[in-house]
Amino acid sequence: MALCRRWLLLRESNLLLMLPLGQKSFSQTVGSQLYAAAKITTLQINLGLVCNLACRHCHVESSPTRTGNSENMSEETADSIITWLVKADDIETVDLTGGSPEMNPNFRRIVSEARKLGKHVIDRCNPTILVHQTEQNQPFDWVPRFLADHEVQVVASLPCYLEENVRKQRGVHAYPDSIDGIRMLNQVGYGIKDELPLTLVYNPGGAHLPPQQESLETDYRRELRERWELEFTNLITITNMPIKRWRADLERQDKLAEYMQLLVESYNPQTIEGLMCRHQIHVDSQGRLHDCDFNYALNMRTPEQENSYLWDVTLSELNERPISTGSHCFGCTAGSGSSCGGSLA
Ligand code: SF4
Ligand code: SF4
Repeated sequence: MALCRRWLLLRESNLLLMLPLGQKSFSQTVGSQLYAAAKITTLQINLGLVCNLACRHCHVESSPTRTGNSENMSEETADSIITWLVKADDIETVDLTGGSPEMNPNFRRIVSEARKLGKHVIDRCNPTILVHQTEQNQPFDWVPRFLADHEVQVVASLPCYLEENVRKQRGVHAYPDSIDGIRMLNQVGYGIKDELPLTLVYNPGGAHLPPQQESLETDYRRELRERWELEFTNLITITNMPIKRWRADLERQDKLAEYMQLLVESYNPQTIEGLMCRHQIHVDSQGRLHDCDFNYALNMRTPEQENSYLWDVTLSELNERPISTGSHCFGCTAGSGSSCGGSLA
C-alpha cells in the first residue's frame, strides 16, 4: 500500500518527560516517514474496563472493580456503533477488546450484528475468563461455542508457556485457568479447524523487547503440545508499552529510563507503514475516538475529532486523518515493531 503523502502532526503527549536527555521526540525521530492515517479498514471497539484479572502490565488498568457505567458500554452506545457499522462498507474487521469484552452484556449482539454485515470479527480474549464465574455464579463457558458458531477469530493472551512467568504477570491461578480456557477453545475446534483461528499473544515479563516472533512460536507449539496437548494457529508478540501499570512497575524497579532508552535506541523505520494507528480507528465504551488503544489509555483523542463520537463522523473523514503521537509510540516502533497483529517488520 502506498504511503499517504499528507504530513502529520501531531502533538506530543506529556510522556516526553520520559525520554533520555537530549533525545528527539517521537515526531522528530520519525520525521517525514510518518504520515497521517491511511485507509481505515479496522474498527477496534473497547467494550469496557471490567476484567476478571488485574495484570501487572495492563495498559488500560483493567480489573474486577472497574464496573462503572462511565467505563463500560451501554446498550444505547452499542446500538449507535452497530448503526454506524451498517454504513461503513470499507470496514473489513471489527476488533473487540476490553477489559474482558465478553463480560459486557452487549458483546454477543455486537458480534452477531457485525458477522451479519460480513465483517471479520476478532475477540481479544483473556482465556481465564472461560473458566470464570461472576459473583452471581454466572459462568462464561458459553463463550467458546458462541464464538465458534459465529466464526470469530480468537486472539488469546498467554504471556508465556511457563507457569511461573504467567503467575508473575497475571496472578496465582492465571496459568492453570489459561490452560483450561485454551483447552475449551480447542474442544470446539479453535486452533484445529481452518475457519476457527486461535492466535496466542506473548508479551515480555521484564524490561526487554520480545524475542523473534517465529522462533518463539515454535517454542510455544512444542511446549504447549508436550505439556498440555494444546493446539493453536499462530503466535504474535507484543511490546509492553511504558504507560499506566507497566510504567508504574518500571518506576518501582527504577527501570523506566533504561526501558525508554532501549525503545528509543531500537527505533526501526520499517515499522511505520504497518502501525495500527494508520489502518484502524479505536472507539471506547462511550463512543469517543482514539487513534489506538494506547492513546485511549492516555486519554489522547484523535486530533480532528476531539469532541466527536463515532456516530458524528463518516468513515471517509477518518481516512488520512492526523494522528496524535507521543514518546510512548517508541513502543510500537522498537525492534521488529509491535501492534495488535504482532510484530511489523
Ligand atoms: S487480562 Fe488483559 S485486560 Fe484484563 S487485566 Fe490482564 S491485560 Fe488487562
Ligand atoms: S502508540 Fe503506536 S499505534 Fe498508537 S499512535 Fe503511537 S505509534 Fe500509533
